[in-house]
Amino acid sequence: MEITGKSVFGGIAIGKLAIFAKAYHQVNREKIEDPQAEIRRFEEAKEEAKTQLGLLYEKALKEVGEVNAAIFEVHQMMLEDLDYVEAITNMIESQMVSAEYAVATTGDNFSAVFAEMDDDYMKARAADVKDISRRVVTILQGGSSFELAAGEPVILLADDLAPSETVQLDKSMVLSFVTRHGSANSHTAILARTMNIPALIGVDFPEDAAGKTGIVDGYKEKIIIDPSISVLEEYRRKQEEEEEKKRLLLELKGKEDVTLDGKSIHLYANIGSVADVAAVLANDAEGIGLFRSEFLYLESKSYPTEEEQFAAYRQVAEMMAGKKVIIRTMDIGADKQVDYFGLEREENPAMGYRAIRICLDRQEIFRTQLRALYRASCYGTISIMFPMIISVDEVKQIKSIIEEVKAGLDEESVPYRDVEIGIMIETPAAVMISRELAELVDFFSVGTNDLTQYTLALDRQNPKLDSFYDSHHPAILKMLQMIVDNGHAGGCWVGICGELGADLTLTETLLRMGFDELSVSPSMILRVRQKIRETDLSA
Ligand code: PEP
Ligand code: MG
Repeated sequence: MEITGKSVFGGIAIGKLAIFAKAYHQVNREKIEDPQAEIRRFEEAKEEAKTQLGLLYEKALKEVGEVNAAIFEVHQMMLEDLDYVEAITNMIESQMVSAEYAVATTGDNFSAVFAEMDDDYMKARAADVKDISRRVVTILQGGSSFELAAGEPVILLADDLAPSETVQLDKSMVLSFVTRHGSANSHTAILARTMNIPALIGVDFPEDAAGKTGIVDGYKEKIIIDPSISVLEEYRRKQEEEEEKKRLLLELKGKEDVTLDGKSIHLYANIGSVADVAAVLANDAEGIGLFRSEFLYLESKSYPTEEEQFAAYRQVAEMMAGKKVIIRTMDIGADKQVDYFGLEREENPAMGYRAIRICLDRQEIFRTQLRALYRASCYGTISIMFPMIISVDEVKQIKSIIEEVKAGLDEESVPYRDVEIGIMIETPAAVMISRELAELVDFFSVGTNDLTQYTLALDRQNPKLDSFYDSHHPAILKMLQMIVDNGHAGGCWVGICGELGADLTLTETLLRMGFDELSVSPSMILRVRQKIRETDLSA
């Protein structure tokens, strides 16, 4: 069976199909006959949950370090908490209800009690107790989540994937993403590019596909379910050819990013987590042009502390060994929602309370991040960049907060380095006042994903609009030139970190416009390098 969709990243994947079910189903109050059997089910599910948490701890330890991994140990301990366990078993016995119901209800009750406490540490445990209860209920319900179902790398089928869900995924177990919904500019698409795996959206796959063999052809924009032996063989050959092409690209490692006529440009990579640095190094990027720091917040169950953030930024800076690392302060809001921020539902989240707006409004969050960034500055070459800027006043406020943060560090004799400060140009307002903004900062990085959405008035999350989404629209190209000219006139260097930077059909245009830097997904580095090296601007 063949189903077509829309490709958001090319490539070929062959493997078992698995459906990413929203891990947790509604739990109803169900009466049971045998409470002892139900308690045994609970005990077994609890043991299974602890095993999973142990595996997650080991994985996180390798990928994000001890401080960030510690949460899984805390969860393991919470599962053994006597009050929690007794509340569940008592409820099963006294009310003759199912283990699922007893765990879910106890989780909600404990969470409500923690949330009311004055102590911040205990407050933060409210989300944890809910989380461990969900894990146990999921296991009791037959382990419907992908994490539980998959024992080998799979092609992952899903309705849609929110950034908060993709951060939980074991990426080494995913060969390809195939979703029913989602748009070409969504973060699942960006993640697929980072991971260098094919991805399709708009695919209406059948529910019984799980467990069957599938082929994703990211070039021909289709998925083949249960292919014949001959089709499978044909695709295995194609996959080998792909591998060969990748090997040839690897020969560009160590080569300069310079055109045939000698114009050079900085080629950096975009990342969302510490773990992505491996791909940056493997693809030989000259630096990191965008570290989307909000993923630290998305991975966390409560506000990441200064120490946790410091550890992550320091690790990235150290791994990059002196190469430039541009860290963007958190861009929470819009499609990147985190429960513990307690943000209200909005009619137009993309144009709502997000990014720098939250930071300037809830400054304790911002100051914590800035302190962590400045402390980490001693361990490499860090630059800081701010998202969603629309005014000169915002930049002035940011700079005065930075001065206060630095003064605080001075008082405590905490060392830091002066770092480059930049802003993202991703709103039409910022483009129009880019000449004034350039006087205040060291660099601009153009966020073409948002700039396109706001300029063309096209919601980047809405798949119905993909056909209207013209990233080469003359309005965008004019704006790009204006940003470069105004940035340079004000003494800034100017780069692009939106997806347009990796559009090979525009590489020559961007070079001609005078961009100083392109920051692209790690998987695109060598392809863009190849394009730059084939370009002759004198021709
Ligand atoms: C952009 O808007 O182009 C950008 C790089 O930021 P994000 O995709 O994270 O919004
Ligand atoms: Mg953006």
